[in-house]
Amino acid sequence: MKRLILGFSFINIFAFFYPNLSNAQDTYQRNASADVRGYIFNLTLNDENNEINGEALVTVAFKNEVNTFALDLIGKSENYGMEVTHVFEGENPASYSFNQNKIKIVPATSGEKTRTFKIEYNGVPERGLVIDTTKFGQRSFFGDNWPNLARHWLPSVDHPYDKATIEFRITAPDHYDVVATGEKIEESYLEDGLKLTTYKEPAPVAMKVVTIGVTKFATRLLDEVYGIPVTAWVYPENRLDGFSDYKVATNVLKYFIDNIGPYSYAKLANMQAKTQWGGLENAGTISYFENSVNGKNEVEGLIAHEIAHQWFGDSASENDWNHVWLSEGFATYFAILYQENVYGDTKRKEELLLDRKQIIDYYQKNPSPIVDPTITDPMKVLSVNTYQKGGWVLNMLRHKLGDGLFWEGIRTYYKRFRNANALTADFQKVMEEVSGENLDTFFQQWVFTEGYPEIQSDWSYASGKTKVSIKQLQKHHTFQFPLEIGIVQNGQLVLQQIKVTSKDQEFEIATKAKPDAIVLDPETWLLFAEKN
Ligand SMILES: [Zn+2]
Repeated sequence: MKRLILGFSFINIFAFFYPNLSNAQDTYQRNASADVRGYIFNLTLNDENNEINGEALVTVAFKNEVNTFALDLIGKSENYGMEVTHVFEGENPASYSFNQNKIKIVPATSGEKTRTFKIEYNGVPERGLVIDTTKFGQRSFFGDNWPNLARHWLPSVDHPYDKATIEFRITAPDHYDVVATGEKIEESYLEDGLKLTTYKEPAPVAMKVVTIGVTKFATRLLDEVYGIPVTAWVYPENRLDGFSDYKVATNVLKYFIDNIGPYSYAKLANMQAKTQWGGLENAGTISYFENSVNGKNEVEGLIAHEIAHQWFGDSASENDWNHVWLSEGFATYFAILYQENVYGDTKRKEELLLDRKQIIDYYQKNPSPIVDPTITDPMKVLSVNTYQKGGWVLNMLRHKLGDGLFWEGIRTYYKRFRNANALTADFQKVMEEVSGENLDTFFQQWVFTEGYPEIQSDWSYASGKTKVSIKQLQKHHTFQFPLEIGIVQNGQLVLQQIKVTSKDQEFEIATKAKPDAIVLDPETWLLFAEKN
C-alpha cells in the first residue's frame, strides 16, 4: 500500500544512452551496456547534523562495449543534495562528470568486462533517507525510496530494470539499533562511541525497495518460516503492541511460500517506521506507518499486501513503470487471496465489491487504462487503476481459467521472473502457455483499454423459458466476458454461465417456473457497472 504525500518531478537525457528499450514506455534513460551487479554502501551518520558521509562501491558488468555509463545522484543545491569528492576505478582516479543529477563515469581503456567503481560523497539528503524524530521524539533515520528517491542518498541506477545485490555498512553512534536490507553479518563497537553494523542481501534488489532503519528499536524474533527469520522492529514504547500486531506476518509468509514459491530474501523484518506511505514493501525489511501498531490486529490486510509484494514487485519486478500493476494489482489481489484463505470466500467478495465501487468512481473522473503510456512520472503510476482494477483483472483471470490453472500460471510466472523483470506481455505469455488459451482479448480489453462493461439487463418468462437480455451501454468498446446469472426461485439461487460477446444479446434459460428474481454476477467475478 502506498499513499502519496509529496509531489515530485524529474528530468534528463544523455546521448550515449539508448533512448528507450522496445516496449518500455517510461522516460528513464537506461545505460546502454552497463549492468550493475552489486552495491556496497558505507554510510556514516551522526547526531550533530543531518549530513551523511558516503562511499559507494559499484560493481558493473559491461554487456558488450565498455563505455560511459551513468548513476543517479541528486546534486547539491542550497541546503540539500550531495557533493561528489572522488570517483575511483579500482585504485585509480576515474574520469567523470557530475551534473544534472547524473554521475557520468568514463571507464579506463582495458579489456576487463567487470569493473568496480568507488564514489565518495557527502551531503544532506532532502528525501529518500528521512532524518527526523519518531512520534516519541527519538532521533531516527529511515530509508523511504519508492519510486525513485534512492538517488537522494545512494548513487545508483535508480530504476527497477537494473537490480543488484546490496550491502549496507552503517557507522552510527553506538546507542542506535540498525536494521537494513539483507542479513546482519557484522555488529562491531568502534572507537569514539561509534558502532558499525553491516547487512548483506545476496539476492538482486531494485533501489526502490532497499532501506535502512536507524533508531532505538525493540526487536523480537516472531518465528522462523521454512528457515526464514521473521522479526518485528518497533519503537520501544510500542513494544508489546508491535510484537502482537506484526506476529501475523509469519502466517502470511507461510501462505505465500506454500502457494506461490520460494521467498527470495535473507530475512523478513517488519519495521515500524517514518514513511510517506501506509506501508512500503522494502525487500526483506518492510516499513509500516508509525500508527500501524496498537495491539488490535488492525493491519493484517496491509501486512498481507506488503508481504505479497516480496514476490510481485520486489522479486518479479515490473520492467517499466507503466506496468506497475504487475506489482500493485498483484499485491492487492494476493492480500485478498490470503484473507479469503483465512476468513472464507465472503471476505473475497466483500473486498472486491468495495474495490469495484472505487474503480467505477475513479473511472468517472479518470477514464484511462491500467497500462497508460501517457504517464511519464513514476509518482503518477499509482492509482485505483493499477491497484484495485489490477487486482480485479486477476480475479477475472482466475474465474476464466479456474483455480487450478490460475495458480499453476502464477507459480510458473514467478519461477520464470524471480529476481528478474517482466512486462504485461510476459505474464500473458505464461498464462497462455499454462492454459492453452489465447488471452489477447482478455488482456487487451482489461489492461490496455479503459473502462468496463456498463450492463443493462432485462428478463421475461414464458412457457418454461426465461429470456435474459444483456446490453452493453458503453460506447468506446465491446467487452467479451463470461457472466454468471443467478436465477432465484423459492429462496434458492441457481447459477447459469453465459458468454457475452456483443453489445446486445439475448439468452434463453430453461426454468420450470417464473423466477422470483434474476441476479447478475452473484459470486462477484465480473468487473462491471449495473445500469437501470
Ligand atoms: Zn503496494
